[in-house]
Amino acid sequence: MKNEKILVVGGAGYIGSHMVKDLLDSGYAVITLDDLSTGHRELVTGGEFIEGGLGDRVLLERLFSTHKISAVMHFAAFSLVGESVEEPLKYYRNNMAATAELLDSMIRHNVTRFIFSSTAAVYGEPVEIPITENHPRNPTNPYGKSKIAVERMLKDCDFAYGLKYISLRYFNASGADESGKIGERHSNETHLIPLVLEVATGQRENIKIFGTSYPTPDGTCIRDYIHVSDLTKAHLLALNALLSGGDSEAYNLGNNRGYSVREVIELARKVTGKPIPAIEADKRPGDPAVLIAGSDKIKKALGWKPDYEDLETIIKTAWVWHQKEATYT
Ligand code: UDP
Repeated sequence: MKNEKILVVGGAGYIGSHMVKDLLDSGYAVITLDDLSTGHRELVTGGEFIEGGLGDRVLLERLFSTHKISAVMHFAAFSLVGESVEEPLKYYRNNMAATAELLDSMIRHNVTRFIFSSTAAVYGEPVEIPITENHPRNPTNPYGKSKIAVERMLKDCDFAYGLKYISLRYFNASGADESGKIGERHSNETHLIPLVLEVATGQRENIKIFGTSYPTPDGTCIRDYIHVSDLTKAHLLALNALLSGGDSEAYNLGNNRGYSVREVIELARKVTGKPIPAIEADKRPGDPAVLIAGSDKIKKALGWKPDYEDLETIIKTAWVWHQKEATYT
């Protein structure tokens, strides 16, 4: 197992950089491929780094010819719902078409194990909570549609070429590696927890609460936050399953527990000791009221067990990182 070489596409991004670190810590050899469109070179803590895109046929040809890759993990997607509505082709080109190029190169070089970062957005508006893997898949935006398109592509590739894949459908990724060396860095931040913590560091004046009349106990949206290291832990189990001859699968990754926007802000006040002013604002188009994962399938099948089930602890890890980040900006 330890001599296996893993290609991490998008390894300079938030979740990808945590994956690279955890693969290296587990003894794997790692190659990161990232075009740095949203990633950061300095977040890649080791292994080999190649700058380039996953749709670059020539580069992929060279990469797969010169390295014996045991499996590919794919984190290199655009992931902003609002942007995907305004610029759908950017999402279909990068998330879907470029992934087809990557899979094509893999198949031609007989690399047949693939772990895919999918999303809760593939389910669309929930018809039941918690959302299990059998929930209907009716994505409501181009981001979710581009991800479900890849999941379908993977199924067809399994049938046609014997590709074995595991799709991991993330709920709300959050937190930072315990080392404090890597964490979430987006140039145009839109996610709740980093924004709230940027208010705590003084980089922003306030946090806007998008909608206060949802059918939830306090009127704000409820989400299921999962620590980034619990995501990477699930990837390691999925990798192990595929390398041991396991079959293709799709699993949810969440904590089976929801927190409202107001609860997130309150916990961040507790963790940081800062007032964190919040102002009530209009709903953000396309936000479902409640998203909570049912993640029993991966617990039973792969023995996954999250280490960070409690949101206060998740926010603490993010706070260590954001305080450091604030000193550089
Ligand atoms: N949210 C908010 N204010 C912000 C950013 C997000 O109230 O400045 C809300 C958003 O409407 C959603 C929740 O926080 O209900 C989580 O949003 P995020 O963008 O972090 O993740 P998403 O659930 O969209 O993947």
